[in-house]
Amino acid sequence: MTEAQDPPVQRTAIVTGSGRGIGAAIAARLAADGHRVGVIDLREEDTAETVEAINNSGGKAVGVGADVADAGAVEAAVARIADELGAPTILVNNAGILRDNLLFKMSDSDWDAVMGVHLRGAFLMSRAVQAHQVQEKWGRIVNLSSTSALGNRGQANYAAAKAGLQGFTKTLAIELGRYNVTVNAIAPGFIETDMTRATAERVGVPFDDFVKHAVAEIPVGRAGTPADIAAAASFFIREEASFVSGQVLYVAGGPRA
Ligand code: NAP
Repeated sequence: MTEAQDPPVQRTAIVTGSGRGIGAAIAARLAADGHRVGVIDLREEDTAETVEAINNSGGKAVGVGADVADAGAVEAAVARIADELGAPTILVNNAGILRDNLLFKMSDSDWDAVMGVHLRGAFLMSRAVQAHQVQEKWGRIVNLSSTSALGNRGQANYAAAKAGLQGFTKTLAIELGRYNVTVNAIAPGFIETDMTRATAERVGVPFDDFVKHAVAEIPVGRAGTPADIAAAASFFIREEASFVSGQVLYVAGGPRA
């Protein structure tokens, strides 16, 4: 006999970089799953579309502007979301930037900016949110890694940060497991968003051709969508996924790693 699923519990989630792209899809999906959502993006006005879409479909969201690489801004954002929506016990570290270049052309600031948003950002956000998770004795952290963690030309900074996030994920899973907090990573392959559009522009290839070229290498024969990643995040966050921790799930239309 199949065991009944846990009844859905409404919790407070924070999704960083959720003004657009994958983050916006994750925020919408978590709201549809019944959670209240703190939508963080660099500027508060950039959260409006995601927040309105959630609130207009019967969910509850609050938008906060914060740079995830800024410790003070992170503390203030988490405190405001806790105040307005209740203790955040779900965190999705999604905010991300690209500063691609071959090593010999990569500047110090290209390196530092990518490390700042992906690694320092995930660290600061997780440190702020774990206080609530430990107190509530329940939590979920999902970090956005990438297939680039396996190596990608022109992305020494991004690949190092995304590989670093996998080690960060496994370590937090070990440290926080005793508090009923699971920590997992999603490593997307090629997903159609502004980020991949910007890459096509940088290499001077029309986006349609860029997508076609990527799809030729993808076993399922299509590009990924933000909803594909949101579905994976939704799984990790469920009550019934409580025994899945420290994992990296490649969501890339075929095998990786
Ligand atoms: P995107 O469309 O460029 O969106 C990234 C979001 O993060 C934007 O809303 C951006 O804000 C925000 N952000 C950037 N820096 C921030 C900061 N310091 N503090 C707060 N928010 C910040 O990217 P995406 O394609 O949705 O990617 C989302 C995540 O998935 C990233 O971590 C990315 O590395 C990862 N990923 C993407 C792909 C892909 O194919 N698209 C593949 C693998 C992994 P602004 O609008 O203000 O810039």
